[in-house]
Amino acid sequence: MYVHSDKSVLYFDHNATSPLLPEARQAWLEASETLIGNPSSPHRLGARADAALQTAREKLARFLGCDALDLVWTSGATESNNMVFHHLAAALPARTEVWVAAIEHPCVLNAARHYFPKRHRLIPALKSGVIDLNWLKRESTGKRPGLVAVMAANNETGVLQPWREALALCRERGLPFFCDAVQWIGKLPAAGLGGCDFVSGSAHKFGGPKGVGFLKCPAHGLVHPLLLGGKQEDGRRAGTENVAGVLAMVAALEVRERMLAAKGHQQRLGWRETFERALLKKLPGVEIVGAGADRLWNTVSVLIPQRDCQQRWVVKLDKAGFAVSTGSACASGREEPSHVLAAMGYTPQEASRVLRFSSGWEASWTDWSQLREGLQRVNTLIGS
Ligand code: PLP
Repeated sequence: MYVHSDKSVLYFDHNATSPLLPEARQAWLEASETLIGNPSSPHRLGARADAALQTAREKLARFLGCDALDLVWTSGATESNNMVFHHLAAALPARTEVWVAAIEHPCVLNAARHYFPKRHRLIPALKSGVIDLNWLKRESTGKRPGLVAVMAANNETGVLQPWREALALCRERGLPFFCDAVQWIGKLPAAGLGGCDFVSGSAHKFGGPKGVGFLKCPAHGLVHPLLLGGKQEDGRRAGTENVAGVLAMVAALEVRERMLAAKGHQQRLGWRETFERALLKKLPGVEIVGAGADRLWNTVSVLIPQRDCQQRWVVKLDKAGFAVSTGSACASGREEPSHVLAAMGYTPQEASRVLRFSSGWEASWTDWSQLREGLQRVNTLIGS
């Protein structure tokens, strides 16, 4: 299934993190060995590192459809998302609200709560897991929030969000729009995302290294920086840039965009659908979360039959050779049920039955059918 050291495990947790692609590893090694200068240094070795960063910026800008000057390198999407709210807390007039989707990743929700404790509103979700666009249309008639945040694809359910429609609405009404595109980029074409005012992405979700990401934000130092220090990134993010990480991230994205251009995701969507149909037939009592909505081709979120707690399923599946998750990596180990499922109207009891399977590009149809057989075996084990 995937070139990783432990061949005895089928890895179905790519939404948490995806293994490093060989092309990204190669780019990382080459950059680490040859681009030894600090991009801010005044000599030729510094200039060479800086030029490599600029080339990477232009490549990423072409994929997203934005100006290279709008892109800031960060340590990952948690930083990028915090940057947005840190900036807006300083830039927006007092009393201006920010509106964020109730199903956003905790790093968006918690940043909104932290910087706008009394001035954030949650955009509700429907039972399908899609945000309520009608709510947004209705509420934004006559009201002017300082930001509307709608993620591109949900990390727990894989449900695709109507970010294009929300962006168009925000453009029509002159509202700034932010899209956390972490789970979309590398799985679906990035084209068009650059039209949003703010966009975040993270390398390790699509085959790049951990600890590197980006934020698309207004150019020319108009951003109130989260990290203070030197004047790197046009004054928007202090700290020496992770040159090798950035080059590896863009190398990974180039691989994924090539696979997307060859429509590789369409065949994989078919596999996911066949897996779901077979699972519903063979495992009575299973429910697919977000069944009626368009979802990422790699993500299946299910409510398992009400026999045992989800952690026991995860442990038993792990022993059987399948790495799966109970939802988001951030939510696992926590007592409280998923805020995403709660926003979709699931009860805490129902939400405590959720398991998430997220495949990678390299998974084959055989891997999906082995997972289905593994689930049947564990179901029998738990039931006996
Ligand atoms: N946003 C979404 C939708 C995510 O799924 C994640 C990671 O799980 C993040 C943000 C945070 O990304 P990072 O790991 O780069 O901090």
